[in-house]
Amino acid sequence: MSHPIAGRITFNLVAGIVVTIVTVISGVAWMAYRQNDQAAEQTRTMVMGGVDAMHTRVQGLANDYSWWEEAYDAYLRDDNAWIEANIGTGIIDTQIADFLAIISPDRELKYGWWTPADAPNSETVMSPKLIAKIEELIRTAPIENNAARSSYVETAAGTLLFAVSRIAPVSKVDTVKAENLPVLVMGFYLSNQRLSELGRTFLINDLRLERENLDKLDNDFPEIRDIYGEVIGRFVWTPPTPGFAVLRNVVAPIAGGLLLFCLIAMWTVLRARRLALSQALSERQAVTAARTDSLTGLTNRYGFNELSDSAQFSDACDAGEAAIIYLDVNGFKSVNDSIGHAGGDELVGLLAERLSMILPPDARFARVGGDEFAVALTGRSASAAVAGVASAMVHALDQPFSVAGFQFQVTAAVGYAVSDGNEVTPAELLRRADLAMYQAKNAAERDAVPYHSGLETGALHRKRLGMALRGAIEGNELSVAYQPIVRASDLAIVSVEALVRWDSKEFGRVSPAEFIPVAEETGVIHDIGKFVFQRACQDMIEWPGLKMSINVSPAQLRDPSFANDLGAIARRHDVVPNRFKLELTEGLLVRNPTIAKRKLARLKSMGFGLSLDDFGTGFSSIGYLRQFPFDWLKIDKSFISELGTNPTANALIQSMIALGDAMDIAVVAEGIETVEQLQLLRLLQCEYVQGFHLAKPMSAAEITALLAGLGESRRLFPDLAPPPMLDKDRLINLVQS
Ligand code: C2E
Ligand code: MG
Ligand code: MG
Repeated sequence: MSHPIAGRITFNLVAGIVVTIVTVISGVAWMAYRQNDQAAEQTRTMVMGGVDAMHTRVQGLANDYSWWEEAYDAYLRDDNAWIEANIGTGIIDTQIADFLAIISPDRELKYGWWTPADAPNSETVMSPKLIAKIEELIRTAPIENNAARSSYVETAAGTLLFAVSRIAPVSKVDTVKAENLPVLVMGFYLSNQRLSELGRTFLINDLRLERENLDKLDNDFPEIRDIYGEVIGRFVWTPPTPGFAVLRNVVAPIAGGLLLFCLIAMWTVLRARRLALSQALSERQAVTAARTDSLTGLTNRYGFNELSDSAQFSDACDAGEAAIIYLDVNGFKSVNDSIGHAGGDELVGLLAERLSMILPPDARFARVGGDEFAVALTGRSASAAVAGVASAMVHALDQPFSVAGFQFQVTAAVGYAVSDGNEVTPAELLRRADLAMYQAKNAAERDAVPYHSGLETGALHRKRLGMALRGAIEGNELSVAYQPIVRASDLAIVSVEALVRWDSKEFGRVSPAEFIPVAEETGVIHDIGKFVFQRACQDMIEWPGLKMSINVSPAQLRDPSFANDLGAIARRHDVVPNRFKLELTEGLLVRNPTIAKRKLARLKSMGFGLSLDDFGTGFSSIGYLRQFPFDWLKIDKSFISELGTNPTANALIQSMIALGDAMDIAVVAEGIETVEQLQLLRLLQCEYVQGFHLAKPMSAAEITALLAGLGESRRLFPDLAPPPMLDKDRLINLVQS
């Protein structure tokens, strides 16, 4: 198991060990080399000192033998025997020097001695060129003791180190001239034996003079120049390496120390690694928990977002190999309301379980909200499979769930979207699936809805409306208009219908037909309903005897406290419930007849009148009318608009009126826009009428003014003639024409 922390710790350990070892080794090596350097420098100084001592020695000898009265006298006398005995053989035989020569003031070689016998003779060595050079060397030397000069010259027998000095009469130095004095030349060969003897005094075994390949030698080795200024050799030796000797002694203890250090460091790090890994593991567990929905064990919203944000998912989107399905359970709130949250939780668990079973094994299934689920499909088959999977999810809910002894029939809105590889980002894909789901919910689709571009405008706009609607009540953007409902026979106003109005700061005036469905979806309808009812209660105090129609959405009726809330508001405003007619549409009755029946019976028992709105547009089964206690039915305005032009509409209206008659339910026709429509409806014995031709929806103040103008009778057109009396045949003709 590898983990970034463990990796980091291991890396730090290895780096630490390497750094320590390198530091220690290079430190020790540096010390050793430094010691070697110092020793080499010392040795060089000693060698130079030794060479200097050789010069001093040969100069000293030359001084001794030249600053000598008897020698000078013997030279002047040409006393060869004396010179031979005291200078020549005396020096050569005792091996004080290897080479001796005396040069006359006129630069002639006067005497010469050499050893060994096969070494070059004095004539060979003392070439005129050398004699001239020696003259030059000694020219500046004063006539006194210790005035000898030394230098080198190369010969066939090797390098000759020699000193030159004038042979001077000690007592008469003031009276002689330097150029009139003979010169003594005295030297010895720098044989390897001699040099190694010299070296041994400084503990150098192999001091020698190297005369070939000089430029290849280290510059630290001192060079020597002959009397002509030419480099003729270098003293070389093997430098001592005391540092390495020390090194050899400390290697073992240091290696042991380092080994121990490594072992301790490794042990420490292994411990730290184990600690870090266990911590990382518990972190990982916490992270997993944070991504898991505790109720269903599915991925939660956070985990799902993470998945959709991942690079792999993004790649799949780019490749056109990703699909998202959203599922939203319909009416889940009412389940919670009826069996409590524990039951709701159980239902969600069962639902998740059932859905899991029908999903392909590689689908990523998440619970992204209380009653919302999401599925992510990726891979080459995703786009082909998604429609089938989404549809299977819808139908997985066909069988009811049993929770706490109850059977629950649950439906869901399912929408999905597929990445078509056309620059659809993951965020865009999610939005599209959401939009499709939204559409499924909105249109109460019984099957999964795929995303298509046609969804864009409507759904998006509705979403923005929903957001704006939330602030509409507090923002004082809502008001209520009232539209009179008139008795057909004498056109007296008997009632008004409360119609909500929204003047949005963002969208201007929005029709209720547009925003009521949005309000139903977002739940704002409950507050809007209460607002309208409350406002109607306040306003109708001015209009005694007038009835009030209130529109009620199915969503409001599903609210368990709806009836109580209405009762309380009416009581608070001192209005009796039987002045109200609650206008309902068929949707609710069709979808949930049992619950509807119970709720309507309760409202009825509280005294509220009930009106079936938009009659004829839905299922309009006569059965419903018989089952539910309606007092009014309102013929939908779509029929009225076709009255007199479409024979079928005429016949239908006629039969609806007859139906009301037969069931003792008052009939209202809405949407009357022309005098002809009014007259025809009066002819057909429709009891009540409503429409722009009679009165448009208006403000409370306008209603008050209108009523004041009409007087006691409240008749809109007091002079209107009663409807003509027609016989039945003419009536049928008229209606069918
Ligand atoms: P509805 O209950 O069928 O209301 C009648 C609609 O017909 C009103 O539209 C009204 O202004 C309009 N109308 C009246 N006379 C005529 C006419 O002669 N010709 C035509 N073409 N239309 C006429 P409005 O106010 O736009 O309301 C539309 C729908 O919104 C209402 O239909 C009702 O279902 C709903 N609604 C209105 N107010 C409320 C409310 O407070 N609560 C609830 N839940 N729904 C409401
Ligand atoms: Mg209505
Ligand atoms: Mg209506």
